[in-house]
Amino acid sequence: MITLRNIDKYIDKRFQRTFILRGIDLDIEEGEFVTIMGPSGAGKSTLLNILGFLDDASAGEYSFLGEPVHNLSEKKKSDYHKSHIGFVFQAYHLIDELTVYENIEMPLLYRKVKGSQRKAMVAEMLDRFNIVAKKDLFPNQLSGGQQQVVGVARAIIGSPKLLLADEPTGNLHSGQSEEIMEIFKMLNEEGVTIVQVTHSEKMAGYGNRIINMKDGVLTEEDPYPDKEEAI
Ligand code: ADP
Ligand code: ADP
Repeated sequence: MITLRNIDKYIDKRFQRTFILRGIDLDIEEGEFVTIMGPSGAGKSTLLNILGFLDDASAGEYSFLGEPVHNLSEKKKSDYHKSHIGFVFQAYHLIDELTVYENIEMPLLYRKVKGSQRKAMVAEMLDRFNIVAKKDLFPNQLSGGQQQVVGVARAIIGSPKLLLADEPTGNLHSGQSEEIMEIFKMLNEEGVTIVQVTHSEKMAGYGNRIINMKDGVLTEEDPYPDKEEAI
């Protein structure tokens, strides 16, 4: 699904080049649940943003679903993002002025899905995540965990192939974190490829592969990516 070859990301400022990512090589297959770990400032968010077309690499090759991303027009990239990728943020990034229902519906408006279909799709999400009773509430009337459930519903309402999550449980208590990870696990079992960033070993344990990052480079991968098989 994803192939990165020799990806660099750098910032040029006053004749000085600062590398954020350097020589990243990575393959992610469809159906994987990958966790990226590493200290603050390692470049994890930057890598995730590149994977999600929210940022461009400075050099190297990124292929998504067999297509070289640098060949895609901005319009095509935006279409790809909308139709294939869901993004979950640490701080939820819900729109405060919109209700739970309206937040979840938002991506469908961008995709110009018809009214009757939108209604059915949002209803399905509310039902699936057990938040029907919350549909008319605003984000500030919800707990962090509930806000993140809404964030996940919004991210997957378009049935993305790839779900990217930048510290999705970073602001949550452990019970809420586990609820979000159980949702991720369920989505992954349904075939959604997941790439998450986390600082938590426990959250990483929900995935099947750990990639470590430091100072903009990938360091060693977990030698036993699939614990059941390794034993
Ligand atoms: P971002 O990816 O948004 O830049 P950071 O990686 O800087 O975020 O940190 C996200 C959160 O994780 C912050 O609240 C920070 O305090 C915390 N954090 C950063 N590094 C570690 C670490 N090594 N172990 C545990 N928590 C950390
Ligand atoms: P992480 O998510 O692992 O905490 P980030 O990807 O957020 O790391 O950032 C990696 C490094 O790149 C940090 O030192 C950060 O300050 C720097 N950085 C990220 N984006 C920019 C930018 N647009 N301009 C300059 N420096 C940046």
